[in-house]
Amino acid sequence: MAYVALYRSYRPQTFSEVVDQKAVVTTLQNAIVHNKVAHAYLFCGPRGTGKTTMAKIFAKALNCEHGPTPNPCMECEICKGITKGTIPDVIEIDAASNNGADDIRQLRDSVKYLPSVARYKVYIIDEVHMLSNAAFNALLKTLEEPPKYVIFILATTEPYKLPNTILSRCQRFDFQAITDDGLISRIKYVSEKENLKITDEAVKQIATSAEGGMRDALSLLDQVISYSTNNEITIDDVLQVSGNVSSLDLYNILFNLYNHNSVKALELLENLVEKGKEIPKIVSDLTIFLRDILIYKADSTLVNNQIFSNKELESFLKTINNSIIYKWLDILNNTNNQMRFSNQKRMFLDLAFLKMSDAKENEENKLLERLNMLEYTINNLETKIANSKVQQNVIKEVIDPKEILALHKQNEQKNNKPEVIVTDVYEEPTENVFQTDDGNISIKTINELLNASTKEEKEKFLKQWPILKIKYSDNVALNMLLNGQIVAACKEGLIVVLQDEGFCDRVMSYPNYIKVLEILQTIEESIKSFYVIPHNIWLDIRLDYKKKYDAGQTKPILDYRVIPVKLPVKPIISNDENNELEEKLKDIFGETLEIKEN
Ligand SMILES: [Zn+2]
Repeated sequence: MAYVALYRSYRPQTFSEVVDQKAVVTTLQNAIVHNKVAHAYLFCGPRGTGKTTMAKIFAKALNCEHGPTPNPCMECEICKGITKGTIPDVIEIDAASNNGADDIRQLRDSVKYLPSVARYKVYIIDEVHMLSNAAFNALLKTLEEPPKYVIFILATTEPYKLPNTILSRCQRFDFQAITDDGLISRIKYVSEKENLKITDEAVKQIATSAEGGMRDALSLLDQVISYSTNNEITIDDVLQVSGNVSSLDLYNILFNLYNHNSVKALELLENLVEKGKEIPKIVSDLTIFLRDILIYKADSTLVNNQIFSNKELESFLKTINNSIIYKWLDILNNTNNQMRFSNQKRMFLDLAFLKMSDAKENEENKLLERLNMLEYTINNLETKIANSKVQQNVIKEVIDPKEILALHKQNEQKNNKPEVIVTDVYEEPTENVFQTDDGNISIKTINELLNASTKEEKEKFLKQWPILKIKYSDNVALNMLLNGQIVAACKEGLIVVLQDEGFCDRVMSYPNYIKVLEILQTIEESIKSFYVIPHNIWLDIRLDYKKKYDAGQTKPILDYRVIPVKLPVKPIISNDENNELEEKLKDIFGETLEIKEN
């Protein structure tokens, strides 16, 4: 006797044998019980989820000699006949190969004749989305007013390809991909019936590879049985046949990428390719593995991957940060998209590995940046505390960048770095206003800089930009600045536009501002200040400037306004703290002292 594929011999014959799809089964059974059977059904869903199987069981339920019944007897001639495929009234049509209008016209003609042995004529049209437009039109007529004894069941994996006229005439059922548990229990059931020895790991791997399709799962089991020479089927057999990559190999790759050992990771990749693993499969396996890691980290009981009980992996999982995993997933996802349209699949994966091995470094830079911010905040707080103890008369201070610079230079000459720069006295703004009372930059400053700006100066900075990038790759604030666009430059100053408002604040904050200014002075010694302006604000300024320029002003004067970018401001003692101070003084002297302001 010819060999019958497992997925054929273990095709469910009754509703109760169907794996998952509870909603579909219940609705169809109820339709029979309540005598509400429609004349056209549409079964949609991924391949191998049991659409045609369900259609045949439904045909039995309708036509069983003891029916119509929600539970066909499986004993009568009709039930047996439908199982064997010998009942002429249950007609299976594969629309992939019979997709012309003529085929459908033939079908339409046959609809006229009464069923020969059964109660209903059931037309099961598989892959219905493959029909031509003419064929759909021919089908439409019949679907609209079929004879009472005719039932259509259309099955498709791609319902969106069907015309609305067809969709609106069918009762639609959506089949879900079969769950891993559903697949696992069925694979185990079949293995038992076939007297197979198979490890749990292997069963799980088959279920994962099948991606929700029962037909794929049982076909793979079939292939593994013919491949395996062992007594017992193991996960290695499954991996060899499916082309999947083992979790251990995936872990080794990721471990090396995490430790910046991209050379070793590329070597491992080469080994896999030599073993015949396909690049897209490796990418998808890596993606699934990373997803499993994320789930495992959230709740270790949700993942039943053997490898996760490995001690070495456990420590890896403890150190790896979720944000790196997300970044890796992004990189793999992009790689997947790029590969789709290219023959150079291997090259894209090589590049992805290099990026993945760098991802952690970028992440570390971010951490470093946060650390810097924290350090700055702590310094700030310390100054604040020191100030509130010592000084009685400081209300608010604003650092003049020229002054900071002078102090800084002075200190440099003394060859010792300033620990905390404090100016005790708040200076009245000089004529050349750098900022307004609240510390914001005034438009006047920007205006003057724009008018003094020259093309030569701008080019001078532009030329040095890439060099700075390499030279100071560890200076986070500078790198934020370098990612911006130079819009104006003169001997004394520079304006850079950044997309991100938060980045502007970072660059303009103390002590970042000073460090960056110093570096800029290596390009133009005379530069005194620079400004980083958010993109949206710059657009307004530029428009205003251009309007005035076009109107004939050679050195336009911009409309007065304050730009909400703050220059480094020294810690401010809040009113609350002042009140506290007052209260303390009152305790000591028994009266309120007037706090002098300079
Ligand atoms: Zn029957």
